[in-house]
Amino acid sequence: MVLASSLVLMSALLAVVLLLSRSIVRPIRDMIGATGDMVRGNYDRRVAPSGIRELDDLGGAVNNLAQQLKIQLSTLNYQAFHDSLTGLPNRALFMDRLEQALTRALRHGKLTGVLLLDLDNFKLINDSMGHLAGDRLLVAVSERMRACVRPEDTVARLGGDEFTFLLEDLDDLSAAVRVAERVSEELRNPLFLDGHEVFAAASIGIAISPPDSQNLPEDLLRNADIALYKAKGEGKAHYVVYDAKMYPQAWERLRAEAEMRRAIGEGQFRVHYQPKVDLHTGGIVGFEALVRWEHPERGMIPPLEFIPLAEDTGLIVPIGEWVLREACHQACRWREQHPSFADPPLTISVNLSVRQLRQKDLTQRIARILHETGLAPEGLSLEITESVLMEDAEGAIATFGSLKDLGVGLEIDDFGTGYSSLSYLKRFPADYLKVDKSFVDGLGEDAEDTAIVSATISMAHALGLKVIAEGVETAGQLARLRELGCDTGQGYYFSRLLLAGAAGELLRSAVPR
Ligand code: C2E
Ligand code: MG
Ligand code: MG
Repeated sequence: MVLASSLVLMSALLAVVLLLSRSIVRPIRDMIGATGDMVRGNYDRRVAPSGIRELDDLGGAVNNLAQQLKIQLSTLNYQAFHDSLTGLPNRALFMDRLEQALTRALRHGKLTGVLLLDLDNFKLINDSMGHLAGDRLLVAVSERMRACVRPEDTVARLGGDEFTFLLEDLDDLSAAVRVAERVSEELRNPLFLDGHEVFAAASIGIAISPPDSQNLPEDLLRNADIALYKAKGEGKAHYVVYDAKMYPQAWERLRAEAEMRRAIGEGQFRVHYQPKVDLHTGGIVGFEALVRWEHPERGMIPPLEFIPLAEDTGLIVPIGEWVLREACHQACRWREQHPSFADPPLTISVNLSVRQLRQKDLTQRIARILHETGLAPEGLSLEITESVLMEDAEGAIATFGSLKDLGVGLEIDDFGTGYSSLSYLKRFPADYLKVDKSFVDGLGEDAEDTAIVSATISMAHALGLKVIAEGVETAGQLARLRELGCDTGQGYYFSRLLLAGAAGELLRSAVPR
């Protein structure tokens, strides 16, 4: 009897344990399933309530984790494919959409268009008004661009001030051209930044993929880039449609750029020197450093043949800095070797490119070069062409101010060719005006040229500037310049361009003034 009742009791207990364990195991299995799903990237499964408080707390934590992960991953996903400033798709998303668009176009027999757009003066605005203003400009421009296309088209920011449009289902080229015209028109309206009116004109390259072609997304973007480059070269603020004939030109440019990079690495550039002569005493007062490229096959290449490409690619910055360092080093040696040229001390003049002038840390870079080469600041003079100065006169005035504080000399080169306004001229803290060779050529023969040189000298002197005439070739020109009171001269009449050794010889044999 006792045995039977114990057996019943044990069975009842077992039944209770079994029942309890099932209600515990089910929610635990549920949780294992939900975490397994999370590992596989599915965050939608939720653990159901079990009625057991402790287990429900745990299940709630698992559900919460899944929810948080879902939100954070979708944010990360968005960030990976969008530009954080403008919210536009980024390069990765653009390329993905372009690839899909090209596949669809192949099926439906339609055209796909890519527009690549680059703002013409973004760097100038960014440098002069600051990065915050630059950012606001990019946001405003991106909003205007979005308004120019259909909702199904993609406008993306590739980086910097480069934007791209993906136009799908086009019937013909003119549809893409119309978008380019609309965008250009839209950007012609001024924007207001910090109370300033700003014009954000853009150049646009257009490339179309014909329906039957198997263009890769990279090919189409490259073609748009080639067309954009052409648009920039043709004077900016307009669009150019890619044409297969452009490819060899673009390729040639890439080849030339690679060659120039190699030339920098291999030290193929040389500095030549041309003396500057005091017109009152006839003594040498300094030299201008002029760069040459000693090409292994093409021989000596003059600067006008390679500086435009160097400017375009930005390679002028390392080249210009190399010239600066080399010239300062040389000037320092001449100062040591020829102490008789101490009063006034010999100066070395170096040409600065527009790219260098726009560097925010230009003054610090020059100070570092002076420090490294041991040249005193007054031993260096920088030549900047008038047209470069006038491109951004306010910025140039500020840069000139800090260079002046450093103690280096400043010259306005090619004066007379760059439409200076007199009010600006007054504000440039320059030391010299360099009268352009084209006016010196006509001295004594052409009445207008003579009048221009005469007026320039009087005006410069009245503003407290000295005058140097460049390209003096004849005794007649020299005589006229002396009569007109010009201070300094430079040109083949005095000396051709010399290598450092020959320039040193000239100093040895010359009389200091
Ligand atoms: P620039 O600074 O106005 O230099 C004067 C140019 O006139 C030089 O041409 C010089 O060789 C030439 N020249 C001097 N005297 C005479 C003369 O009596 N008759 C004639 N016909 N020409 C004379 P180059 O060396 O071909 O340089 C051309 C331009 O290239 C320079 O004009 C300057 O703007 C630029 N450049 C030269 N070297 C550098 C450099 O290191 N950096 C930068 N950024 N530009 C440079
Ligand atoms: Mg010069
Ligand atoms: Mg010049």
